Amino acid sequence: MIKTTSLTVDQLADAWKHIYGTSPADEADPLVLECARRLAADPGGEQARAWVSGLVAMSGYLAWRPGEEAERAALDALSAAVKALGDRPCSHADHPYEAEMDSLEDEVWAGDTGLLTGQLAAQDDDADADRVLCPRNIAGWARLAADVIAPFTVRRVPVGAPKYHDSCMRTLSGIVNDYPYGDPHDDLIDEAAALPTRPTRGVLAGYLVTMNATCWYATSERITDRSVLDAMLKGIEAAVPLLGDERCTHDPDEHPDTADSDHANRIGYLLRSPGGRAEIAESYGWDEEEEEDPEDDPLDAWVCPAFLHDLAEETIAELEDGLESYETAEAEGDEPGGDDGGRA
Ligand SMILES: [Zn+2]
Ligand SMILES: [Zn+2]
Repeated sequence: MIKTTSLTVDQLADAWKHIYGTSPADEADPLVLECARRLAADPGGEQARAWVSGLVAMSGYLAWRPGEEAERAALDALSAAVKALGDRPCSHADHPYEAEMDSLEDEVWAGDTGLLTGQLAAQDDDADADRVLCPRNIAGWARLAADVIAPFTVRRVPVGAPKYHDSCMRTLSGIVNDYPYGDPHDDLIDEAAALPTRPTRGVLAGYLVTMNATCWYATSERITDRSVLDAMLKGIEAAVPLLGDERCTHDPDEHPDTADSDHANRIGYLLRSPGGRAEIAESYGWDEEEEEDPEDDPLDAWVCPAFLHDLAEETIAELEDGLESYETAEAEGDEPGGDDGGRA
């Protein structure tokens, strides 16, 4: 176990760089707890930017399988920083964290926030230090990190999915609306292979929602190659064991309705980024002005493991049915092709 209490900010910053989703808890948790402790002790202070930058740097670990205490401490400290810094007056039209939201690959930020040094690596413009160190920029990063660790618990995240996700949404929307832009076989196989090995809760939920939204198409006569179904089944079977074991806190009717596959496809990508989730929240009428109290809102049902288990089961059953049709067709020597799942 690392002794963290006597380390300087520079030494800690160096240690944060080596914390990933794969880090063992006995290495990562003490660093998270120390960082969260220092942030919580003075969330609006001069050093807050350093501790926020630490929790952002360790968000890949925190979004995967952190110790319970470390996760709680990090979220509490980030929320305290948002409260202390988020409403300080400033004259900036925007802040650097907003531009970085477009490059949040699988939503864990691997780049430099600039919060430690006061500047962004790519820019040494002094005028920018002001915007980088602006309390509202620090609060913005704190919001992003908290929302990646615990989706739908944070308000006032700027709306908008990364551009890359917009193009994925368009591709899948074309498929389920029967106007595919490319070859649906290739696109669905690519989609099935798109899950990272240690996805955040948002990315994992989004993946399973998209798989469900496209499975009827994959089992319809439009798909003539069983490798699509094989790839989708393989992807889902790898994804299900990654679901967490958080208890379902929803009423039976609070789990989302996924019957509209075009809508579900879109949600499936919006779930994969803080800006995308903010868009879902906005469409559900979340009040942007209220910083807290989303507990009563069933929005987090989209990332509920119980909901996602059921959804995955439904998807697997549909795909297995489709595979059976291939096998029957092969046995009878017919042209391969499934039946229409009845949802087109
Ligand atoms: Zn500002
Ligand atoms: Zn639930």
